This record gives sequence, C-alpha cells and structure tokens, in this order.
Amino acid sequence: MRRPLVAGNWKMNCDKQESADLIAALKSETLKEGVEVMIAPTFVNLAATVDHTQDAAIGVAAQNMHQSASGAYTGEISGAMLKSIGVETVILGHSERRAYFGEDEALLADKVKAALAFGMQVIFCFGEVIEDRRAGKHFDVVAAQLKGALYDLDEAAYKQIVLAYEPVWAIGTGETASPEQAQEMHAFIRSNMAERYSEQLAQDVTILYGGSVKPNNAGEIFGQPDVDGGLIGGASLKADSFAAIVNAFPV
Ligand code: PEP
Repeated sequence: MRRPLVAGNWKMNCDKQESADLIAALKSETLKEGVEVMIAPTFVNLAATVDHTQDAAIGVAAQNMHQSASGAYTGEISGAMLKSIGVETVILGHSERRAYFGEDEALLADKVKAALAFGMQVIFCFGEVIEDRRAGKHFDVVAAQLKGALYDLDEAAYKQIVLAYEPVWAIGTGETASPEQAQEMHAFIRSNMAERYSEQLAQDVTILYGGSVKPNNAGEIFGQPDVDGGLIGGASLKADSFAAIVNAFPV
C-alpha cells in the first residue's frame, strides 16, 4: 500500500560522533505522526544508528549493497550482513552510484533481486539527466530504467519496493523539479507500471520524489496526488530542516 515516507540519505557525511549527534537532535524533534521516517547513514555508522534509533520511530537504511551474499569482493557489503545488524532497507540505483561507480540497469537488477531474496525493502532510485529532459526524452529514459532493473520481477515483489524518482539535474543543485513536473512524472510512472503489471499495483506502489527538497518546497511537492514522500539529501543533514520537511507533509 502507498504510504507517506520521508527518507534522509546522508551520503558520505557524518563521522561517528556527528551521526550520534544528528540522531539525538532528530529524536528531540517532534515528527508528524503518520509519516514514516528513515535515515541512511554511512556503512560504518549503521550498526550504531540501529542501536541509537531503537527507542524512536526512525527506520534505518543502507545506501548500497553488493549483489552477492558473501565472497571475495574486497570492500563490499552484502545484504546478509546488513540484515545481521538489523538493517532491513537498502537504497539502490542512486544517481551517484550510477554516475561514479558505473552501476547500470543489469547490475541494479541483480542487486534488487539479491536484496529481495534477503527479505529486504528496496528504495529504488532512477531519473533522467538534464540533457534527456532538454531533449524531451525524460519519459523514455525513466521507462527504460524501470524496465531494465525491475520489470523482470513479478507483482508480489513490489510489496518490498519503494520507487524514488530523482531527476539528476535536481540532486544537490538547489534546482527542484516544480511540483507540476514531479506530479507529471509520478503519474507517468504509475501508468507505465499499470501497463506492465496492473492498475492496482500502479496505485499501490509508493513513489518518492528526490532532488533539492527543502522545508520551503516540501509541502507543495508532497501535496501532489501521485507523490508519496521524499528522498532527501542535503537537507537531511540538519535535524531541524529534516524535521520541517517531515512535518510539511499534508497528512
Ligand atoms: C539525493 O541525493 O537523493 C538527494 C535528493 O539529494 P538533495 O536533496 O541534496 O538534492
């Protein structure tokens, strides 16, 4: 079922103390009931974050995982390892993973399947670059990303999948898609899902928007009928701005 969700992607920010401080600050904020809140710190701080959020309604996600369960993959982390420390959600397909680490649809398809096999929830990110949008190809690009990484899955798999539309030109740039642009793409994603699967699934899947969401624009974006919440980068690194974004949710 669609559910209001705001997730903070901390990327490669916050050392051990800074993470603990940010979690403590977040716990002291009043967060709107009915909105699911999640944070994704770096791997090294994940286990401590699970401990520190034990007594709070704040979920914990990893920012990536390897597609294998274990083995000779120096520097990598598996879904089994994440599960063993109590992490049940993983962000996959983030544009920075695609751009800087060469992650493509085939690899992401494997990662998604691996995460699902471990019983994890996946927040699957995708979105077009500015050249695609300028060329009017953004719908085609998004359709190809969904098809390439997800459309092998059966309908039941989507109980464990949240989609996150993140136009690359809006990530960390301060440039946000307008509420109308976000709504237009989210509606397109639902119609594309309906074509591949069913109208029911298209209506049930949770679709987040990500890209320079801030306290001053969150309410309008989250108020769009096909936007179910947000994936937040920069503004999730300050407890008050992240809380203000959560609290901007019109529920
Ligand atoms: C992100 O990296 O997923 C993101 C949306 O970043 P920002 O909010 O900083 O644009």
